Amino acid sequence: MIDHLGELGIFQLLWEHSNTTSDIEDRTERGGWIIETSQGLQFQSFHETGENLEYSACGIAPPDSFIVPINTVGMIHTHPFFPGEDTTPVCGEDGEEEYEPGLSEDDYWSMITIIEATSNFNFTSYLIDGAGISTMGLMGLASAQSFEPCGYNP
Ligand SMILES: [Zn+2]
Repeated sequence: MIDHLGELGIFQLLWEHSNTTSDIEDRTERGGWIIETSQGLQFQSFHETGENLEYSACGIAPPDSFIVPINTVGMIHTHPFFPGEDTTPVCGEDGEEEYEPGLSEDDYWSMITIIEATSNFNFTSYLIDGAGISTMGLMGLASAQSFEPCGYNP
């Protein structure tokens, strides 16, 4: 699935929308759903399916009315940071003095919430950051995999 998503330009799009060439204060986490359709996989930004999302460098705050589209098979989000960067200026106590790339425990629990809502146990979570692409499924961080950046240039 990764190669296909790279070819669709989704990683590139999300990375650009995260403003990662700007100062850390001006960056935003971005993301969206991967949906299986009769025409193949499609991507929908979170803000196309949920209103009043709050994007910040540190995360996306979904409103209570947040809906996971039907036939969603995965999600992608960005951490607009590079390895070793101090994220505390924008994330405060939740930040890291030296950003460690890859999916976080918080990412795992948000994915579990989605899996519970969709009953799709094959759901895949993708993360892109300044180090590359990481993926995980239901088995969580222990089974997370890392890949070189593909389809975008950090
Ligand atoms: Zn995350």
